[in-house]
Amino acid sequence: MEQGSYNPYVTAQTQFDHVADIIGLDSSARELLRQPSREFHFTIPVKMDDGTTKVFNGYRIQHNDARGPAKGGIRFHPNETVDTIRALSMWMTWKCAVVDIPLGGGKGGIICDPHNLSKGEQERLCRGYVRQLAKNFGPNNDVPAPDVMSTGQHMLWMMDEYEAIQGGHYPGAITGKPVGMGGSLGRTEATGYGVIYTLREALKTLNIDIANTSASLQGFGNVAEYAARLYTSMGGKIVAISCWDQYDKKAYTFRNLNGLDIEQMVSIKDNFGTIDKEKARAMGCELLDGEAWIEQDVDILLPCALENQITPKTFAKISDKVRVLCEGANGPTTPDCDELIKARDIYLVPDFLCNAGGVTCSYFEQVQCNMNYFWDKKEVLEKLDYKMTTAFHAVHNLAQEKSLYMREAAYVIAINRVAEAVKLRGWI
Ligand code: GLU
Repeated sequence: MEQGSYNPYVTAQTQFDHVADIIGLDSSARELLRQPSREFHFTIPVKMDDGTTKVFNGYRIQHNDARGPAKGGIRFHPNETVDTIRALSMWMTWKCAVVDIPLGGGKGGIICDPHNLSKGEQERLCRGYVRQLAKNFGPNNDVPAPDVMSTGQHMLWMMDEYEAIQGGHYPGAITGKPVGMGGSLGRTEATGYGVIYTLREALKTLNIDIANTSASLQGFGNVAEYAARLYTSMGGKIVAISCWDQYDKKAYTFRNLNGLDIEQMVSIKDNFGTIDKEKARAMGCELLDGEAWIEQDVDILLPCALENQITPKTFAKISDKVRVLCEGANGPTTPDCDELIKARDIYLVPDFLCNAGGVTCSYFEQVQCNMNYFWDKKEVLEKLDYKMTTAFHAVHNLAQEKSLYMREAAYVIAINRVAEAVKLRGWI
C-alpha cells in the first residue's frame, strides 16, 4: 500500500496546529504541546545466536506527562523512524486525554524485524532496551506497553529486567503483560473491541442496524482480529481482509462476498500474522491485490494496520456505499483526505478515539496491579465499554453542537484537557 512521502510527525503537528487555531490556544501552550517534552535515542548491542554482536537503535519519546505518567507502546519495525515515534507519542497524549484517563503520552520503538530474530535474540533485545532506559521510565514517569509487532512476552522480559535493575516488584512499570503475570484479562481484546464499541455507537447515531452492515478490514494483527471477532458476533459481515504476507513481502486481500469466517481465518494465520493462501483459497476466499480492501462495496472501512494507508489516491477508490470509517490504526489517513471525507459525508471515528481501548485497558491493568486484585473479564470489558462509549458520545455531541468534523471535536476535547493540566501545574 502506498505510503508516499507523508511524514506522520508533520501530520500530527498539522492536525494540532489546525485545532489550536480553532480553540485559540495561546502561543506558549502551542509551543509546548506541538513537540515532545523528552526524547531518548540509544543503541542496543545484542549478542546474536551466531556469536556476532548486532547493534540496534532504540527510542523512547515522552510527549507530555502533565495529566499523569507518559503512556504508550514500543513498536518493533524495520522501517521505524524517529518522526513516526514523535507523532505516535503525541497521539498517545490526545488518546489518554480524550478517554479521560490520568496518563500522558509516550511511544518507543526499536528498528528491527522480530521475524528475523530467534526467541533468545528477542529476549536479549528487550532486556538491552530496558538497560538503556531503566532510569527514565517506570510506574511514576513513563509506562510502556505492546504495539506493532511487540507482544506480552516482550513486555514480561522488559518488566523482569526492570525489576532486576530496581531490585523489587514494579508491575505497574509496564502494561500488556501476560495474564497471571500482572496482566489484565481483556487486554488482548481491548483495542479491537474498543474499535467496535465506537463503531456500534456511530451506527446508532446514524440509525443503521449493525446486523445489516458489511465491512472491509485492513490488517489482521491483534487489533484487526478482535475487531473482526466482535463485529461479526454482533451480526456484521466482513467481506475482505487485507493482510501482509511476510514470505512474499507484499499484502493480499482475502475476499468472500458471502462473508469471511473469522475464526477460520484466524486458524490459518501463522505466528507472524500471515494468512495461508492455499488454505484460504480452499475455504472459498478469492485472493486479490493488497490494496483491493479499500475499493469494496461495503458500509464500513476498518483500517487497522499502519499509518498513511488512506491517501487521496487510494481514497478515490472508496465505494459510494461506504458510510463509516473507523480508524483502528494510528494515523491511517493522511491529512489531505480529511476534506474528501467531509465532502463525501463519511462518518469518521478518528484514530486516537477509535483505538483508545488498548490504553484504557492498560490503565485498568495498572489499577489492578496497584491493588494487587484482579477483576474478571466481564468486569474489565464492561468498564472498557463504558469508557469508550462515554468518550465517543462526548466527541459526537461536541461535533454536532459546534458543527465540527469528528477529528476536530476529538482534538478539541483532548487538547483542552492537556492545556488545562499544564496551566494548572504552572508550566506555562
Ligand atoms: N500501543 C497501544 C496504542 O497505541 C496501547 C498503548 C498502551 O497500552 O499504553 O494505543
